[in-house]
Amino acid sequence: MAKRNFQRIVLKLSGEALAGDQGFGINPDVVEEFAQEIAALAKSTDLEIAIVVGGGNLWRGLAGSNQGMDRATADYMGMLATVMNSLALQDALEQAGVDTRVQTAIEMQEIAEPYIRRRAIRHLEKKRIVIFGAGLGKPYFSTDTTAALRAAEIEADAILMAKKFADGVYDSDPKTNPNAVKFDELTYNDIITKELKVMDATSTTLCKDNNIPIIVFSMDIPGNITKAAKGEEIGTIVRG
Ligand code: UDP
Repeated sequence: MAKRNFQRIVLKLSGEALAGDQGFGINPDVVEEFAQEIAALAKSTDLEIAIVVGGGNLWRGLAGSNQGMDRATADYMGMLATVMNSLALQDALEQAGVDTRVQTAIEMQEIAEPYIRRRAIRHLEKKRIVIFGAGLGKPYFSTDTTAALRAAEIEADAILMAKKFADGVYDSDPKTNPNAVKFDELTYNDIITKELKVMDATSTTLCKDNNIPIIVFSMDIPGNITKAAKGEEIGTIVRG
């Protein structure tokens, strides 16, 4: 297997992760734990770290539209949820002693910078952690799509997709099927043709077109973000 040697990464944290066991909202202790690990990683390596955080712990656009809301409005609420998560993470990371910048895809200059690609790259070069908030600023997209597009734009070497519970991609749901088999490696086409629930098809296609590897691993195991970032073979790697 080719060595995984990353210089610049996009870490995708699902919103759910920040909720901890309570399943909803933002749990400051959980955020602090993630921040401590990410800060230690940033301080001990030359890795350039960008983060995309989801919003599912606060609001999901699709859920709102299923209950009769206008989809675009519900999605904009989801984007705002990601900004709250981004600020929580920024606060915890700064308290852990690393410089950060939040850049949002919807302008809200009182609380964050607007997304400017070249500026984001400059921050990364200066070893600041850049958190991309408000998704892509467009309804009908997801924070997975955000991770894929931003990774392409900033020429990241990989997306580290930290998932709750599953320690990689399985052929069926390991929570319900004890015989589920874990894949160590998959292609982008496998994800699409087998309809594996790793990321949505738009995000997978973007990664495929731009040849961005995705490492899918469990965020429930402390130290996993560090292992994935340092290129240890954990979880499932998706590539061409
Ligand atoms: N969202 C959106 N456009 C984007 C990114 C996010 O409309 O570019 C909305 C969408 O409604 C989504 C919500 O924000 O449901 C929260 O993001 P996501 O569901 O991807 O978060 P996660 O599942 O990772 O917590």
